[in-house]
Amino acid sequence: MMRFEVKLLKPESATSDEDLKAIEEANADAKKGMYHLKYLIGNIRCRKHPSSPNKIRITAVKNGKPKPSIVSYCCADFLSMIKT
Ligand SMILES: [Zn+2]
Repeated sequence: MMRFEVKLLKPESATSDEDLKAIEEANADAKKGMYHLKYLIGNIRCRKHPSSPNKIRITAVKNGKPKPSIVSYCCADFLSMIKT
């Protein structure tokens, strides 16, 4: 079981219109990245721990690519499965 979480940047933290645009783009990219990951690995299940929740967080990065990180996982075998 895979859970996905998107960590977005706060639009209210923008210091200018340009900054706000960068934040909105970063957030949109993070959401896109989340859907992409969901599509790629959303149905992967660990054979040993099929009901264990595995969690991946995608963090929006201003002026950069969204950064995925694995928040929790059941075992190293599963980790190597999703890291390919
Ligand atoms: Zn496992």
